[in-house]
Amino acid sequence: MSSRACDVLVIGGGIIGLTAAWRALEAGASVVVLDPAPGDGATHAAAGMLAPVLEAGFGEPGQARLGTASLALWPAFAEALEHAAGLAPGAVGLETTGTLAVAYDSDDLVAMRRMLALHREWGLGSAEITPDEARHREPAVGQRLAGAAWVPRDHRVDPRAVHGALAAVVAARGTVVRRAAVSLTWAEGTVVGAVDEAGDGYAAGTVVLAAGHASGTLFAGAPTRPVPGTTLRLDAAADRSPAVVVRGAVQGRPVYAVPRAPRSDGRREVVVGATSDEREDDHLTRAGDVFALLRDARAFLPGLDDAVLVETTTRSRPGSPDNAPLLGRAADGLCLATGHHRNGILLTALTAAAVDRALGVAPVGSQAAEAVEAADQFADPRRFVDTYASADTYMSADTYTSADTYSTTRGGTA
Ligand SMILES: Cc1cc2nc3c(=O)[nH]c(=O)nc-3n(C[C@H](O)[C@H](O)[C@H](O)COP(=O)(O)OP(=O)(O)OC[C@H]3O[C@@H](n4cnc5c(N)ncnc54)[C@H](O)[C@@H]3O)c2cc1C
Repeated sequence: MSSRACDVLVIGGGIIGLTAAWRALEAGASVVVLDPAPGDGATHAAAGMLAPVLEAGFGEPGQARLGTASLALWPAFAEALEHAAGLAPGAVGLETTGTLAVAYDSDDLVAMRRMLALHREWGLGSAEITPDEARHREPAVGQRLAGAAWVPRDHRVDPRAVHGALAAVVAARGTVVRRAAVSLTWAEGTVVGAVDEAGDGYAAGTVVLAAGHASGTLFAGAPTRPVPGTTLRLDAAADRSPAVVVRGAVQGRPVYAVPRAPRSDGRREVVVGATSDEREDDHLTRAGDVFALLRDARAFLPGLDDAVLVETTTRSRPGSPDNAPLLGRAADGLCLATGHHRNGILLTALTAAAVDRALGVAPVGSQAAEAVEAADQFADPRRFVDTYASADTYMSADTYTSADTYSTTRGGTA
């Protein structure tokens, strides 16, 4: 058993944990990241839609505000990351070309129009267009279409490329230890470090808990749950696949296709997704999910029939009781960056701004103050800490790792 000291210990090396680690390095901190499999969580499955408009949900205006604020930061975030990683501009695949929303039958169109009315009410910017206009904008769209809408401000990025760039920066300037944290270390109500699965200890001035859906197993005040989802990766001829994100519903079932830029061989990756379940995290892909996703995607995009199915990926989104993220200080010495659920790629840029503020780093992007204000208002972790982890249980790490505490937490989120 050994022990190591650092300024900032980040638990979890997904897109969120590595973003926190990068920003801490920018602050001049010494940084250690603990993760047995960095990048193999939800980040590995994510399609990369940056979609505050089409992800806006009835009764969730706060999340729309978080998403909109984060989207505004993405161009500066991508540019700064590419620069830090020594990559060419555009390497992380940020594309600001808008999104086509589609409805398969008349019931799907009714639902879509309800959603467009919500966008109007919240000033989000979307417009119904005719099926002919939709096919003009995106020629890969087929004939079976009851209606469509154009959403100019929903964009996309390549999550694996973003994670790769973050991993390169963190590996060059920090330390990544491929082990799981098993408990936080507490001293008189303050988090002072963590212990890994080999029994080695880490002493840190600040611990950032970013372990995705598993965050709740280390701290009950981060009541996360797994929300498994499946995406498929296709290799498609560029002229038989969409050039913009196409998403909609087929008889009530949501489906999307997210294209990457074409390669020099005239083909491109298209990510088709996604299912969403409330069950344990098992990384197993159900045959019926693959069937349903392909059936629904080809209803809008018949050219995908010729594509090669390259990969099926099932990972779990980190859900929270209200499905909004937990960003910021939760106890002395402990910062949470988790619970990003289905919009963690979108919310990465806002998370960076929140970490910058917490660590006193110059923020990336001129609208960072607005993003931090939105995070304070809608993502403050203290909304759960008081309910799920009372002050007298802060004293012992064992409290947070006991099965009883965890299952109580899960029960509250069902
Ligand atoms: C199918 C699917 C599609 C999605 N599509 C989109 C999309 O289009 N747009 C969008 O914005 N979002 C999307 N998301 C959501 C997004 O992927 C997540 O919100 C985001 O990746 C969360 O990042 P994270 O770093 O918090 O979690 P993760 O990527 O899950 O990373 C958590 C990390 O913590 C590590 N870890 C776990 N336990 C421990 C421990 N005890 N000690 C140390 N490390 C630990 C894991 O190994 C993992 O690497 C999608 C998610 C899914 C599943």
